[in-house]
Amino acid sequence: MDIYKIKEAQLNLSVEERRTILLEIEEESDLHIPVLENRRQKLNDNISICPHCSGKKYCKHGKDKGSQRYYCNTCRRTFTEYTGTWLAGIHKRNLLLIIYI
Ligand SMILES: [Zn+2]
Repeated sequence: MDIYKIKEAQLNLSVEERRTILLEIEEESDLHIPVLENRRQKLNDNISICPHCSGKKYCKHGKDKGSQRYYCNTCRRTFTEYTGTWLAGIHKRNLLLIIYI
């Protein structure tokens, strides 16, 4: 089946059916890496930087509302994977994930 026929066929699907197909494609192809997940992975692997001072030396420093907190040895400030992003001040992040999907 060529891509044009697939595009035409998807027009007959509901929005929910399209979302389901997109999610399945993303899961199977492993092409979609959400930005936050990527950022979290880099922080856990200690290959990221402090969002305050760009220092490379930091360590895990407990949890904050379900998020891993890190402590920067250079500037002595703490941060999470959300620090410096537009999600930093959002209280109900779980609702955003529903909108995103
Ligand atoms: Zn720092």
